[in-house]
Amino acid sequence: MALLDNLLTLHRVDSQVRALRTRVESAQTFFTAQEKLLATLERQKTELETQHRQLQASVHAAEVEQAAATERVTKLRNELNTSTNDKQYKAILNEMKVLEGSKDEIVKRAVDEMQRAEDTKKRLEVHAATIAERIKIRDVAKTKLEECKGDVGERLAQLEAERSRAADLIPDRERKLFDKVADLTEGESMSEVTIVDLRHREFACGECNIEVPFETYAKLASNSDVAIQCKSCTRILFLAEANHPGAATEKDKAEAKVAKAAKAAAKAGLQPPPVMDQAARDRADKAKFEKTRKL
Ligand SMILES: [Zn+2]
Repeated sequence: MALLDNLLTLHRVDSQVRALRTRVESAQTFFTAQEKLLATLERQKTELETQHRQLQASVHAAEVEQAAATERVTKLRNELNTSTNDKQYKAILNEMKVLEGSKDEIVKRAVDEMQRAEDTKKRLEVHAATIAERIKIRDVAKTKLEECKGDVGERLAQLEAERSRAADLIPDRERKLFDKVADLTEGESMSEVTIVDLRHREFACGECNIEVPFETYAKLASNSDVAIQCKSCTRILFLAEANHPGAATEKDKAEAKVAKAAKAAAKAGLQPPPVMDQAARDRADKAKFEKTRKL
């Protein structure tokens, strides 16, 4: 087989291999992202739990402090009743005043901390619900990844073997070129030359639409053993079977016959002659071009 045929075979298998790999890779990427997200959520949960414990501890400490102050006030009140002189009385009264003040502060602090602890608890509940949801998504992602690996695994191994067989048929230099272009174009390594206007010798790269010189078309038309790249998108150019000069003559003949019959019918007043479509015009042009090329 000619080089370009072998390259096309390699391209077909290579793009199948790439598509399968991409499927597994995207399933893997999605699963990894879910795992990362869950790890972050778990870390946040641990932080919230620590915060909650600290708040509960400080509420408890405030309660203990408040009880101690109350006890001290009760004791002072008794002492006040049994005080023997004015100086002592005033001192006890003063201490009681200070204690009452700090008790108010402690109560206020305890209420604040309790509120914060309550808020943290609510956040923890919302967080736990989020984690439960994300675990479901992560588990689905995991199942899908395993399914994908299972589905793809065997087929991928077959295709990879097929790919390496196809690659073995291609000389080193062209194979390296193919691999390079395939990597650059994500597997879209080959491009068909399209005939824009054969009469005016206008051709284009089927992938990027940039003009392909007539010399390239002529070279590809006469030799299937050359790897010529598109000067714009670097893809390896080829001519479709139907665009090979002299390739589709059987079809052309058949179509010409149909056209002739239609013309005869039209002459006989049966129906209007069919309009020649662009493809038919291209083929006719190509046949003419072939004649002049051979001259
Ligand atoms: Zn191109």
